[in-house]
Amino acid sequence: MARVILFLFFGILLFSCSEKSSSTVKTMEVEKPEYAIVIHGGAGTILKKNMTQENEKAHREAMHTALDIGEAVLKEGGSSLDAVEQSIKFMEDSPLFNAGKGAVFTHAGTNEMDASFMYGKDQNAGAVGGISTIRHPISAARAVLEKSEHVMMAGKGAEDFAKSQGLEVVDPSYFYTERRWKSLQRILNSESDKTELSESDDVDKKHGTVGCVALDKDGNIAAGTSTGGMTNKKFNRIGDSPIIGAGTFADNATCGVSSTGHGEYFIRYTVARDIAALMEYGGKSLKEAGEIIINKKLVEKGGTGGVVALDRNGNIAMPFNTPGMYRGYAKPGERVVKIYKED
Ligand code: ASP
Repeated sequence: MARVILFLFFGILLFSCSEKSSSTVKTMEVEKPEYAIVIHGGAGTILKKNMTQENEKAHREAMHTALDIGEAVLKEGGSSLDAVEQSIKFMEDSPLFNAGKGAVFTHAGTNEMDASFMYGKDQNAGAVGGISTIRHPISAARAVLEKSEHVMMAGKGAEDFAKSQGLEVVDPSYFYTERRWKSLQRILNSESDKTELSESDDVDKKHGTVGCVALDKDGNIAAGTSTGGMTNKKFNRIGDSPIIGAGTFADNATCGVSSTGHGEYFIRYTVARDIAALMEYGGKSLKEAGEIIINKKLVEKGGTGGVVALDRNGNIAMPFNTPGMYRGYAKPGERVVKIYKED
């Protein structure tokens, strides 16, 4: 009997020690999956009543394909960096999303894209702002992360660097899509007529930024975000998407985050980093941290949008404070793709 009690005592002691030493960050919600991947295709006034069946189907299919691509990399034991890059490249090539082909237009009628990438293993990061000639801005951001001593490059310099790294260069006209061009024209007309924009035009203003966060079999988290920014943006405006800590953040000790929404608010309130900081210093779980920042703090401040995030144990969070957010995730044997709040 005494032996059994002693055994139990040491067992409990060992268990509580390992719990503590594994860190104080709260991530023990479910059993850790081998890998996990989560994506978004933008948040905003996405309402079922304004969506055609075709459009909804196209978005759902595109999100499934983006997840398929990233999941295939992770399943094979590939890195989270590759999964994020491949998945985002697909979404950049799709005209459905406001990134790469399908990027929104600036006030001057150009397409200026922003992207960023962060690796949770060493917290190395790369970002590009205001580029118009690189087919895959996310690959340019990854090149800055891996092949340069800098974190952020802008405009022509960023394009020259991407070109020097062998990335595909395209004519700026490659990014033209009729839908986004018409959307700019409607906004310009409403400005000159001083009329209100309709709900669907307002939707078009900043829709479809893409992002992806992945956890690979080695336990490394990577996060990336890519966007055309906001329709009618002026003066080389740069949003939150290429700002590390606002649009993108990754740290193996806590979580990876990719944001979408009204960029100015995400920059001012360092949204992505704040979620990780609440876990790191505040002992919150990913879910709690996401809710506090997106559905409490941002709402109080008037900032609209959302994030997709995952923690080091593969828990997923996709909080948003808009009517909808294109979003989805995959883990072994599990797949979710959603658009509306009540999806
Ligand atoms: N966050 C992006 C920006 O402000 C836009 C978006 O996510 O819809 O540039």
